[in-house]
Amino acid sequence: MARQPRTRARLTVLTWHNVDPTPCFPARPGTGRRGLARQLAFCRRYANVLPLEVGVQALREGRPLPPRAVALTFDDGYRDNLAHAVPLLARLGLPATFFLVPGLLSGTAPPWWEVATWTVLRARAGSVTFAGRSYALRTPVERTGAARRITEVLKRRTARGRRTALAELADRCAAQGRPPGAELFLDWESAKDLVRHGFAVGSHSMEHNILALEDAENQRDDLVRSRYELEDRLQVPVDHLAYPNGKPGDCDEATFAAAASAGYAAGFTTMGGRNIPETPRYELRRFVLNPNRGPAAFALLPRQMLRIRGEEGTCGSCT
Ligand SMILES: [Zn+2]
Repeated sequence: MARQPRTRARLTVLTWHNVDPTPCFPARPGTGRRGLARQLAFCRRYANVLPLEVGVQALREGRPLPPRAVALTFDDGYRDNLAHAVPLLARLGLPATFFLVPGLLSGTAPPWWEVATWTVLRARAGSVTFAGRSYALRTPVERTGAARRITEVLKRRTARGRRTALAELADRCAAQGRPPGAELFLDWESAKDLVRHGFAVGSHSMEHNILALEDAENQRDDLVRSRYELEDRLQVPVDHLAYPNGKPGDCDEATFAAAASAGYAAGFTTMGGRNIPETPRYELRRFVLNPNRGPAAFALLPRQMLRIRGEEGTCGSCT
């Protein structure tokens, strides 16, 4: 008897952040651009890339998706997405969704993870005490380690607590120069270019605060306002949401309820895994990819995702 084709809906969602190096995500210049180009070519060759909304709708309705169905997303709205990711996506004919932060687009909210890292890396002090712990800052390795740990501490603060802590950190480190800010990120005009190129836009919160640390009312308010502002200024529907940071503890039941109440069709975490119709629609999964790793990053993904005619996509096949 002929084998019936599998029709079960399975959707793998991938996400990237910056392409070029930043204070928080250092890399050798050019590595991210080359790596992303190879990763996207790999997706084009080994997966069936479809618009996120098509995949989400099929999951919701229990309709079949093609094998190796993949949707592509980018978080935060780094300016290099427009300069480097968009031309690659356009050349390969791949759809993608960009999860944007109104406060970063307006330049009214600092990219706190980048500012904190920069502040520690550029500190004039040889050590800094922060949140009851002393960090040596004598060598580049010590500075990088301290920046990472301090950023982790900041992630666990409410928006108000983080603002105060960042100001204290700036005082104690006395870094030289201007901290990174709007120049790293898209503004509203360049965000419109994403829309003109036909890409979809989702919300990534108002200011990239860790939602689960805020009270339920603040979470709902944030998600309503960010959706409204993106829709109003970019004149596109904003039906999808990606939770900042997106790990357990960054979004919780109150966050999922706030997302539903704010009218989003789906919410995305950064917890890895494939999505099936039974995956709760406000807890959808995504794999975070580092562009600097090139196709080697796909080694982390499920084997079935990228198999084609019995051939398996490996990092060797795109080189
Ligand atoms: Zn983010």
